[in-house]
Amino acid sequence: MTRLSNTTLALTAAAVILLAPLVPGVPAYLFDLFDNIGLAALVATGLVLLTGVGRLTSFGQAAFCGIGAYATGLLTTKFGWSPWATLPMALVASGLVSFVLGAFTARLSGHFLPLGTIAWGLSLALLLGSFAYTGAHSGIGAIPPLRIGTVALLQPRQIYAVIWACVLMAVGLCHNLLQSRFGRSVRLLRQSAMAAAAFGIHPARVKLFIFVFAAMLAGLSGWLFAHDQRAINPTSFGIDAGIRYLFMAVVGGGGYIWGGVAGAAFVLILKDVLEQVLPLVSANPTQIEEICFGIILVALLQVAPDGLWPLLARLRPAPAPEVPPLAPGPPPPLAAATRSGAPVEMLRLVGLGRKFGGLSAVDNVDFALRSGEIVGLIGPNGAGKSTTFNMISGALPPSSGEIWLKGQRIDRRKPQAIAGLGLARTFQHVKLVPDMSVLENVALGGHLAGTAGPLHAMARLERREEAALLAEARAQSLRVGLGGVIDKPVGTLALGQQRLVEVARALCNNPDVLLLDEPAAGLRLFEKQALAALLRDLRAEGRAILLVEHDMGFVMELTDHIIVLEFGRKIAEGAPDVIRASKDVIRAYLGAEA
Ligand code: ADP
Ligand code: MG
Repeated sequence: MTRLSNTTLALTAAAVILLAPLVPGVPAYLFDLFDNIGLAALVATGLVLLTGVGRLTSFGQAAFCGIGAYATGLLTTKFGWSPWATLPMALVASGLVSFVLGAFTARLSGHFLPLGTIAWGLSLALLLGSFAYTGAHSGIGAIPPLRIGTVALLQPRQIYAVIWACVLMAVGLCHNLLQSRFGRSVRLLRQSAMAAAAFGIHPARVKLFIFVFAAMLAGLSGWLFAHDQRAINPTSFGIDAGIRYLFMAVVGGGGYIWGGVAGAAFVLILKDVLEQVLPLVSANPTQIEEICFGIILVALLQVAPDGLWPLLARLRPAPAPEVPPLAPGPPPPLAAATRSGAPVEMLRLVGLGRKFGGLSAVDNVDFALRSGEIVGLIGPNGAGKSTTFNMISGALPPSSGEIWLKGQRIDRRKPQAIAGLGLARTFQHVKLVPDMSVLENVALGGHLAGTAGPLHAMARLERREEAALLAEARAQSLRVGLGGVIDKPVGTLALGQQRLVEVARALCNNPDVLLLDEPAAGLRLFEKQALAALLRDLRAEGRAILLVEHDMGFVMELTDHIIVLEFGRKIAEGAPDVIRASKDVIRAYLGAEA
C-alpha cells in the first residue's frame, strides 16, 4: 500500500473539494446540498473543538449563526455596506457576544453550561422575532450576494467554493490548534482542571478561548448563509437548529478534527435521501422522516459510539507517521540541571491546617524541606498526606497556617503562580490524558516554558517553541525510562508506567521543588530501583523532593529525613533510623499496616 503523509492527503482532499464546481454535469441541487453541508460543517467543526475535545456542551451555536447573519443582513440592507466589508463585523459581533456570554456561562460546570446555552439559544430567536427593526418574524430580505470582481455569486455552484474554502480553513485552524501547547492544555483540562492548574494552565481562559472561537465559526457560517440565501428570518437560528448542530458533531465524531464535516454531510445527505424516498412509500412522509431519522441515528451511535469519522478514517491508506520514532538510547544531557551551592531552605510549612467540615484532615503541621534533600512524608491512609500536597501546590486553600516557597508566602496563591515559582507535583490518582501519547502528556509539564498562545498555534508561528517543548518532553520521558513507549497513548500503559509519566511531566517544569505522591505504587522491583536511582540523581542536582510513599523499604533507603503524620497531626520526625526505631511510629504506622 502506498503510504501518504497526512499533509498530502489533506491537500489532495482540499484540491478535490475546491475544484468540484469545474466538473461539468453535476446538477445544481447537489451544489445546494453541498453548500448546506459546508455551512453546517463550519458550526459543527467549532463544536468538535468545544464539545468533542473541550467537553463543553452547547445547544446554542445557532444563535451565533444568527448574530453573524443579522449583522450582515442589517449592515448591507440598512446601511448600504458591501457584503465583504461586513465579514469582520459579523465575526466581531459573534465573538463579542460569545465573550460576554462565555465569561458568565463557560465558567459554570456540570449541567449549568448546557442549560445556559439552551437559555440563550431560545432567547435570541425570540428577540430577533420581536423587533420591527430586524423585520420581526419575516426577517430581512433582499440581502445582496457576495461578489468576486464583477461576478455575483448567485448560483449554489458559485458560492460553493467560498463556503468550502472557509470550511477547509476552519478545519486547518482547529488542526493546528490541537497540535500545540494550547491544544494539549484543552485536553488536559477536560481530564482534570486540577492537574491543568498545577502546570500553569488557566482553565477559565482556555475555555473562554475555545468558546469564542467556536462562536466565531458559527458567526462565519451565519454570514455565508445570509449571502447564500439572501434572506434570513429567526427560525433558522433557534434552539432546534442548535440541537441539530450538536448532533452533527456527535454523529460525525466529536473527538476528530473532520468529525464536524463528516457529521454535517451524513445528517444532511440522509435527510435529503429520506425526503426523496419517503414520499414514494408513504402518504405521511414528514412524520415518517423524523422517525426513520431517529432510528438510523440511534443505530449508528450503537455501531460507532465515537462517531463516523473513525470508521471513515479506517478506509484511507495508512498515513506515514509524521514524527519518526526515536530509537531508545541514553538520555541527552539536560540544559538546566545542577543547582549549585550549599543547601538552602526551599519549602516551609508553619502551623498548617485544613478542615473538611468537622474533620481536621491536616492539623498544625510544621516542617521544612531544603535543596538537595529528599524528605519522606509518611503515615497511614487518611493521615492527611495528599491534603498537604494539595495545599502546598495551591489546589486547596489551607484553613490555617502558612506555606513558604523559596522565601515567598504562597498559601493564598493560585496553583498556576506556584508552578511558576518552580514547584511541580504528581498525583496519587494519576491525572493524565489517556488518548494522548506519552510525549504529549509529558510536554504538558513544560507549559510554563512556552509563551505561544492559541492564535500563534493556529498560524503555526510557534513551531520552534513547540519543537523545543517536545524535545524537552522527549528528554524527560527517556530519563524516567519511558523511551520505549513514548508514542503510545497513555491509556494503554500499565498503572506503574502511568505514574512514571506523571514524574516525567513534573520534571518537564524543571522544578526546584518536586512533590511526589506515591510514585512507586504499582511499579515492579526493577522499576522501583530505577526510580530510586532517578530520585537520587535529582537530589544530586540540588532539587528538593517531598515523597509520599507506602513502601517503607523504598522510603527508608532513599530519604534524608522523614515526617510522620497520623490523623492529620505530625507525630514524629527525624532521620530514617530514628523513625524506624520510634515506638509511636511503629504503633501508628506499621501497626496500622499490619
Ligand atoms: P492520605 O493522603 O494521607 O491518605 P488524605 O489527605 O487523602 O490522606 O485525606 C485525609 C483525610 O481528609 C481523610 O480522612 C479524607 O477522607 C479527608 N479528605 C480528603 N479530601 C477531602 C475532601 N475533599 N473532602 C472531605 N474530606 C476529605
Ligand atoms: Mg493520599
